[in-house]
Amino acid sequence: MKPLSTRTEQFTDSVIRRMTRISDQYGAINLSQGFPDFEPPKEITDRLAQVAGEGPHQYAITWGAANFREALAEKQKHFSGVDVNPATDIVVTCGSTEAMMATMMSVCNPGEKVVIFSPFYENYGADTILTGAIPIYVPLKPPTFEFDADELENAVKQPGVKALILCNPSNPCGKVFTREELLLIAALAKKYDIYVITDEVYEHILYKPHEHVYMASLPGMRERTIICNSLSKTYSMTGWRLGYVIAPEEIAERIKKVHDFLTVGASAPLMEAAVVGLKFGDSYYEELQNHYTHMRNLFIDGLKNIGLTFTEPQGAYYVLLDISEFGFEDDNVFCEKLAEKVGVGAVPGSSFFRENVNHLIRVHFAKKDDTLLAALDRLADIKVKMKV
Ligand code: GLN
Repeated sequence: MKPLSTRTEQFTDSVIRRMTRISDQYGAINLSQGFPDFEPPKEITDRLAQVAGEGPHQYAITWGAANFREALAEKQKHFSGVDVNPATDIVVTCGSTEAMMATMMSVCNPGEKVVIFSPFYENYGADTILTGAIPIYVPLKPPTFEFDADELENAVKQPGVKALILCNPSNPCGKVFTREELLLIAALAKKYDIYVITDEVYEHILYKPHEHVYMASLPGMRERTIICNSLSKTYSMTGWRLGYVIAPEEIAERIKKVHDFLTVGASAPLMEAAVVGLKFGDSYYEELQNHYTHMRNLFIDGLKNIGLTFTEPQGAYYVLLDISEFGFEDDNVFCEKLAEKVGVGAVPGSSFFRENVNHLIRVHFAKKDDTLLAALDRLADIKVKMKV
C-alpha cells in the first residue's frame, strides 16, 4: 500500500494526553493533563439543564452564536480594555486547540517561520508541522524563565518569520510575562512586521502580585495580535470544548473560513449555557484566583515537606519538578514508573522543551483538596520507590 502523508509522520500523538491514558491504566492520581476534578459553576450547569429542554440543538452560526460573541466582546473589553466588534472580530472554535490550528493555517504559508518560546505547550509543535511552517525556538531560561532580548531579536529578524506564539501565563513553566517583556516583544513584532498569536487560556489564573497584561492592549498591537483563548480553564469546563479567536476583521475573516471547513462550529447548546459564565461579575474571577492560590499553596507546601525541588508558578497551574536526584536518563521512563510505582501521573518535561532537558516533569494542581492530599501522600514515598 502507498505510504500515508509525510506530515503525519513528523510528530507523535500528544504526550500530555497519552499520560492521562497511562495514569488511568495504573489507577494513578492523574496530575498530568491539566484539567480540574471539580465542577463548573452551578449557574452554568443549571442553565445547561434548562437549555437541554429549550434548545438550541441545531447548528449555531458558523463563527459562533451572536449572544455568545456579544458577551465575549464585553468581557474582553472589561478585562483588557480592547474594543472588540462581536459581529466581525470573533470566531468561536472547538477549544483553543482549534483556535490555534485555524490561526496558524490562516497566517502561515508552508516554509514560513514561527518563533516559539521554549518550553512550550506541545500543540504548537504539531500546529507548525501541520501548517508546514518552521519553528524557531527561543529559550526561556530556568529557573526564572527569562529570555535574552538579543536572542529573541535574532530569531524574529530571520527571513520568512511570520509570527510569534506567546503563551501567557505560560504552560508549562508558570511564567507571567511582565509589561516590560511584552513591550519588548511588541517592539520587535512591529519592527519586523510579524503577527503575535497569543494563547491566554490562563489569563485569570494568577498568583499575587503577578498581573496579566494583554498583548493586544499595548500600543499598535491590536492590529497584529491574534488572541486564542478558551473557557476551559476559566470556568472549569475543559470537556465543553469552547474556544475562540479574537482578531481584527480582515484576519478573523480568514480564520472563519478555515474553521468553517474544519469543524463548522462549536456546540450550540453549550455556547448558550456558557453565556451565563461570560456575564459573571468581577467577584467570580477573584474567587477563582483565591481558589487557585489555595490549591497552589497546599500543593507546593506539600512538595516542600517531601523535600522536592520545583518551580513555583506565577500563573497557570503547573509545577515543574526536578527529578535529577533520581538519576533517570529518560523522563518518559520516569513518568511511566511514577504512575506505576507511586501512583501519580505526570508529564515528561522533554515534551515541552526544545533544548535537551530531561530532568524535569510537569504536575498540576487543579484538583480538589482531597485529591491533592492523596497525591502528596503517595509522593511522600517517591524517594524510596523511584530509586533506580
Ligand atoms: N492544557 C492542558 C495541559 O497542558 C491540556 C489541554 C488539552 O489536553 N487539550 O495539560
